[in-house]
Amino acid sequence: MTSPVWHPFTQHGLGDPIPLISHAKDAKLYAPDGQSWIDAISSWWVTTHGHAHPRIMAAIRAQTEKLDQLIFAGWTHEPAETLAAELVRITPDPLTRVFFSDSGSTSVEVALKMALGYWYNIGEPRSRILVLEHSYHGDTIGTMSVGERGVYNRAWQPLLFDVDTIPFPYEGLEQATLDALEAACSAKPAAFIVEPLILGAGGMLIYPAWVLAEMRSICARHNVLFIADEVMTGWGRTGTRFACDQAGVIPDIVCLSKGLTGGSLPLAVTLCIEPIFAAHFSTDRAKTFYHSSSYTANPIACAAANANLEIWRDEPVQQRIDTLADAQAAHLSLLSHDPRAQNPRRLGTIAALDIVVPDSGYLSNLAPRLIAFYRDHGVLLRPLGNTLYVMPPYCITPDELAQVWSAIKASLDAV
Ligand SMILES: *Cc1c(COP(=O)(O)O)cnc(C)c1O
Repeated sequence: MTSPVWHPFTQHGLGDPIPLISHAKDAKLYAPDGQSWIDAISSWWVTTHGHAHPRIMAAIRAQTEKLDQLIFAGWTHEPAETLAAELVRITPDPLTRVFFSDSGSTSVEVALKMALGYWYNIGEPRSRILVLEHSYHGDTIGTMSVGERGVYNRAWQPLLFDVDTIPFPYEGLEQATLDALEAACSAKPAAFIVEPLILGAGGMLIYPAWVLAEMRSICARHNVLFIADEVMTGWGRTGTRFACDQAGVIPDIVCLSKGLTGGSLPLAVTLCIEPIFAAHFSTDRAKTFYHSSSYTANPIACAAANANLEIWRDEPVQQRIDTLADAQAAHLSLLSHDPRAQNPRRLGTIAALDIVVPDSGYLSNLAPRLIAFYRDHGVLLRPLGNTLYVMPPYCITPDELAQVWSAIKASLDAV
């Protein structure tokens, strides 16, 4: 009997093996027979401090002895109160309110609903959303609508709502992006949603902090809400705790998930400025923010997130990030003259390059062939098309990182 499991983003018809993992520690995944892989993409960008961090595991165990789950409409619990207060403390002052959900996609859906709810409740309804070309914000209908259209969402395009797309600020073309944003803002859209400094699923496309800062001030000037989707960039990935920190940008709405629990349990938050909350604050029930998931602010997930915040407070997390960033830069520079590795680029702990292939027929199955190659070489890497990136947990050892990059070099020889 084959497995009944239908895996995400997996073409079962190709018959690729699906390894079974029984345990994980730090940057390593293990099969029951002891075979191991270095997790060079942090289990899809979530694992920050490493798998099974003792402090997070202990916090989860302790919370399971107290409170497993609680309806969050009209009730509350200590792990959520502590977490919300701490998130407000570590983010810029204007962000005063925290709405819980359970995945990056739902945190973006909440952000979009908050933005439209704000305009609706203050009596100036707006519904248009501005997005950046090549963006990714999730796989639900709403988040696909604000993301790049393509093969990944073709079947559902009839259901996706219209947005205005601002061109990506490629080097030398930044002004065109800013001009397009300026022009689009004059049509009074509800909000502009953006992945700050780096577009993840869109191909690890990096743009400068000054462009982010300019985009933010254009939105402020035109009174368009600015939503930062920090689902991937948050929690140190880009070198600072949040990518917006590098640009001195304070968004109106911020989405956080992936590394919020250190990557241990699903949890997300959408933070917003006081006027958005205030627009929903009323004795009129019709102004309520009508959104909930069953597991909103699950206490065990919140306890894991509180442990993550304690780790940021008590352990040299920033130093680990800086060390990893330097090591990534050194490995990347060794490939800088390799004609097969184009556009080597890095932002904080994230390193990426584009693999040059002989012809486009090659391109279509490059990623699956590379994934198999790395799997056979003890490394979990998952290229996006011909874009290869390394985004490891911050605890990866120099030896492990060297193994990852030597597998990459070997793969360039093989393709
Ligand atoms: C992964 C991701 C999401 C979606 O998060 P899920 O937890 O997978 O729903 C949204 N935005 C960005 C920028 C992401 O990288």
